[in-house]
Amino acid sequence: MEEIDFENLDLKSMTPEEIVSLEKEYLINVLGKNLIDSEERDDRKNPTGYRVLAMKYWPEEFEGEEKKCVHHIDFNHSNNIVSNLVVLTYKEHKLIHRLFDPDYEEYCNNISESQKGKPKGPCSEECKKKISEALKDKPKGPCSEEHKNKLSESHKGKTHTEETKKKISESTKGKPKGPCSEEHKNKLSESLKRKHQHK
Ligand SMILES: [Zn+2]
Repeated sequence: MEEIDFENLDLKSMTPEEIVSLEKEYLINVLGKNLIDSEERDDRKNPTGYRVLAMKYWPEEFEGEEKKCVHHIDFNHSNNIVSNLVVLTYKEHKLIHRLFDPDYEEYCNNISESQKGKPKGPCSEECKKKISEALKDKPKGPCSEEHKNKLSESHKGKTHTEETKKKISESTKGKPKGPCSEEHKNKLSESLKRKHQHK
């Protein structure tokens, strides 16, 4: 059989069916998963039907301490049919989305948002909805709109010369990647100082 480079698949040029068949191959041959070709389905929302199905078909997967994710092989979370489900560890689940999910970046954003105070698994449809609703009003990224405007104004009309490019990359060196400005940092360190003085 031809070796497949799962790490470098060109998902954009593949049909959903091709992606799913490669994904199944990976699940079975690389991760050693036991897929079940059953048409049984459970469309209950609460408790989520697919978890009920998974516990019925793969009870042994839920015996250990480790938290398990029930993944929808075709990435359609309403397709709660046994042949579309597989039980994965959290790590495996992330891997599968990275390798086979054409919307992986969006998925990642959802995860990191959902982890803010919400320890629940990544797969719940309800959770995803809430997140995308919450995101509607929020500006993206850590910096405020105002901050962005300032940035873009200061960049208007300027093209970067090689020299300024260098300067920029030098000035970003050593900075933490976190949100925003020097000012912010100063405030932080000041408030830290104050704490120490109280000792
Ligand atoms: Zn999934």
